[in-house]
Amino acid sequence: MNTDHLIALDKKHLWHPFTPNDIWLDDLFTPIVVESGSGSLLTDTNGKTYLDGNSSIWTNLHGHRHPRIHQAIRDQLDQIAHVSSLGLTNTQAPVLAEKLCHATGLDRCFLSDDGSTAMETALKMVIQYFQQNGEPDRTTIISLADGYHGDTVGAMSMGHSKVFHKAYGSLLFPAIEVSSPASYRSPYNRAKPRPADARSYAETQGECLRELEQAFQQAGSGKVAALVLEPRVQGAAGFLMHPHGYLKEAAAIAHQHGARLILDEVMTGFGRTGKDFAFQHENVQPDVIALAKGITSGTLPLAATLCREALFQGFSGDLSKTFYHGHSYSGNPLGCAAAIASWEELHTPECQSARREIENSLRAVGATFWQHPHVGDVRQEGCILAIELVAHTATRESFPYEQRIGAAICLEASRHGLLTRPVGDVLVLMPPYSTSGEQVLQMGEILLTATHTLLG
Ligand SMILES: *Cc1c(COP(=O)(O)O)cnc(C)c1O
Repeated sequence: MNTDHLIALDKKHLWHPFTPNDIWLDDLFTPIVVESGSGSLLTDTNGKTYLDGNSSIWTNLHGHRHPRIHQAIRDQLDQIAHVSSLGLTNTQAPVLAEKLCHATGLDRCFLSDDGSTAMETALKMVIQYFQQNGEPDRTTIISLADGYHGDTVGAMSMGHSKVFHKAYGSLLFPAIEVSSPASYRSPYNRAKPRPADARSYAETQGECLRELEQAFQQAGSGKVAALVLEPRVQGAAGFLMHPHGYLKEAAAIAHQHGARLILDEVMTGFGRTGKDFAFQHENVQPDVIALAKGITSGTLPLAATLCREALFQGFSGDLSKTFYHGHSYSGNPLGCAAAIASWEELHTPECQSARREIENSLRAVGATFWQHPHVGDVRQEGCILAIELVAHTATRESFPYEQRIGAAICLEASRHGLLTRPVGDVLVLMPPYSTSGEQVLQMGEILLTATHTLLG
């Protein structure tokens, strides 16, 4: 089918996620129709190629059409595509569960489909656990300002996005919001902006931790079920990066108050921050972890919620204690086969050295952005680079929302062969691990040139 016809059908019948109608349906806007991919490159139906600068929305770890992962999927497809996990198991899910438990130090793995379902599962596990194990008053959730945990109602309730959630107030349960420790826009950051990662000059940590402690005290003794957070990097909030050390202190506060620590590693998992999982940088002991996005290296929808044996055992001893929760595709063997292959690929020496090279090249790219007068903050964790653009660096004042500067820059970059999606006016590079250092530098050049084109 030709490209124009596909676009016409799309504009007539599809409804795209997180996409303003007026922009998508504008006659002047021609969407890119991606036809194929290979490594870190995507090719559209006109034969034009693009670098995949954000791993196809943070999912693709090892590059497109990765031979090892595709072979694992094909091999499984030759056996069976899906097996119900209700009363049956399969040849892939137990193997994946063991690997993820071993790697995280947790004991049990509940499989579902995406980040939202992984977080919804985490929430319901912890709440039900306390209901049937002698602490029924532990129903309160504490989570970070601008936290994002997915779009189902429970996941939205744990998050705090004024823009995304404003229509659903009547559906959401109240969760206590505490300030994010991310330095650049922290309400406690009174340092004058400098051309450096704000974490290196701001002092915010103490106040945010005191606020967290107060939130636990205000909720009341024995009332908080869980502290929920994205460890170290809050992705959808604009790649807000926390000062190192916050996670460990926050975890200690939660545990002192008898609450569980639920970590949303949907974006940070699988090597993005430099270790397999972000929590491993701070040697904390999470009680529940949600994984999705990168888990199958962007090939198939799959997610995992991992927890401790004690939590699992809290559902034993009486049939009424069963976790009546699940999804039709839970434990899907195609997804699990892809995830096992992706996990093995992640731990090859080649992948490890490729990630070090990406990290170094991203650091070099980040440094080039300081030449631009509208760059307010440049921050990096491992293989994630974020550049925050502002109207005035001296005041950190943002551009007017309607200007959509970040989107305009990324549209311009796409014309020059780079695909990435900003979060507001935060530009993001988090390429697949198949990306060479040279390609990372190329991504940086395209993005910087596009920034100059739009902002002078
Ligand atoms: C993307 C994301 C989610 C939601 O995942 P979906 O697969 O889109 O449902 C949840 N938490 C974090 C941190 C995410 O980045």
